[in-house]
Amino acid sequence: MESKIAAKAEEKAGKIVDLLGELVRIPSLTGEEGKGQDFVASYLRGLGLEVDQWEPDIKELFDKFPDVAQYPTHWQHDLILPYETLPTYEALMESRKMDVLNYRGRPNVVGRLTGEGGGKSLILNGHIDTVTIEPVGEWTHDPFGAEISDDTMFGRGVSDMKAGVIAGLIALECLVELGVPLRGDVIFQSVVNEEHAGNGTLSCVARGYTADAAIVMEPTKNEVWNGNTGGVYWGAKLKGRPRPTGARWAGRTQEGVSAMERLPHVINQLMDLERRLNAQARHPDLPEQNSLSITIGRVRGGHYDTVTASECVLNGCAYFGSEVGNVLEVMEHLRQTVGRANEADPLLRDLPAEVFFLHHDDTSEVDRDEPIIRTLVSVGEKVLGGKPPVYRGNVSCDMRHLVNQGGIPTIVFGPGSWDLIHSPDEFIPLRALVPCVQTLALTIYEWCK
Ligand SMILES: [Zn+2]
Repeated sequence: MESKIAAKAEEKAGKIVDLLGELVRIPSLTGEEGKGQDFVASYLRGLGLEVDQWEPDIKELFDKFPDVAQYPTHWQHDLILPYETLPTYEALMESRKMDVLNYRGRPNVVGRLTGEGGGKSLILNGHIDTVTIEPVGEWTHDPFGAEISDDTMFGRGVSDMKAGVIAGLIALECLVELGVPLRGDVIFQSVVNEEHAGNGTLSCVARGYTADAAIVMEPTKNEVWNGNTGGVYWGAKLKGRPRPTGARWAGRTQEGVSAMERLPHVINQLMDLERRLNAQARHPDLPEQNSLSITIGRVRGGHYDTVTASECVLNGCAYFGSEVGNVLEVMEHLRQTVGRANEADPLLRDLPAEVFFLHHDDTSEVDRDEPIIRTLVSVGEKVLGGKPPVYRGNVSCDMRHLVNQGGIPTIVFGPGSWDLIHSPDEFIPLRALVPCVQTLALTIYEWCK
């Protein structure tokens, strides 16, 4: 049976590419996932699966997972609702942005291939949404053209993660066409709003979807992640005292304070936090790797050359491993760090910088000996040209909800590479697709048979 499944996937090499092209030509930016989800739902129905389609209930997510639920996002309005401690449903309602930040026309799609009973079940999870195509002028290929040259397909979402979604669909198709008997259920989840929220997968957990294991088909170069880092999008708002240049000094006394003068104090404290936590935190599997990465990403502020700036806003991001702490602890570290900068500097003491957050993701990790890892690595060894390595991925993804909220042993495995994503001319090497489909189909077979 194993060789029949592998051969079936090989037979579909052309179809995989055609179908991926078809899905890339359906734009499904975050907030506009409807048509992409229709495509997936009708494909699942075509395979004879029962399909469940629903719009995530934001209030339910905040009620059930108050530390975890995020504001819905839209590619045009990403990260627009800041919060000081945690996002809340009430603040979303009060923001009057519910007309954009909602899930109307943005359903999750779940298909179930029902097994004969008595076997282990498996979730395949992928997100249909993609990030913006901006800066659009930097693309040399049509972002929705699915152009191919030299065994490479270009397009928004081709790696992140339409190839993963298509690989999962074709893996199921191979098993259905061969009539492979499975005892456990296979649950295929195509979710909305993974980018900057994760509410689609969270809503699958809230709806009660569970299994004995899950595979998130994000781009890992057909390698295996047994964990993902957490992330915090943070900001600090600094205030100044605006005075024209001629009035900055009253005698020897400073009257005019630019918000930007105070930035070095805040930035130095943040870089010190990064150094300290990296000196302390060690992950047993990753002794040579720093656990915390803080970017100082962007500064905006000031109005005029001859006036001290009344305000400036510093934005950045922090990625961290579980050995640094959980996401709420990292948020607290950031708050305390800016608090230390406020205390250490007399001018900041008068005009304290304020911390806010735009988005937070927790870490997740599963044991390297999880049965699903052993199963995937052993089938992968046969079709991927060697044992796929197992390690923690350096980005955050929906794995966290399946593990932390769903209690499901979950790994990440998919075609394409996460370092190619989110930028102009996103691409995928097409030769990675058949081995990925073979690995997924054989893993389903071994796991659910
Ligand atoms: Zn992704």
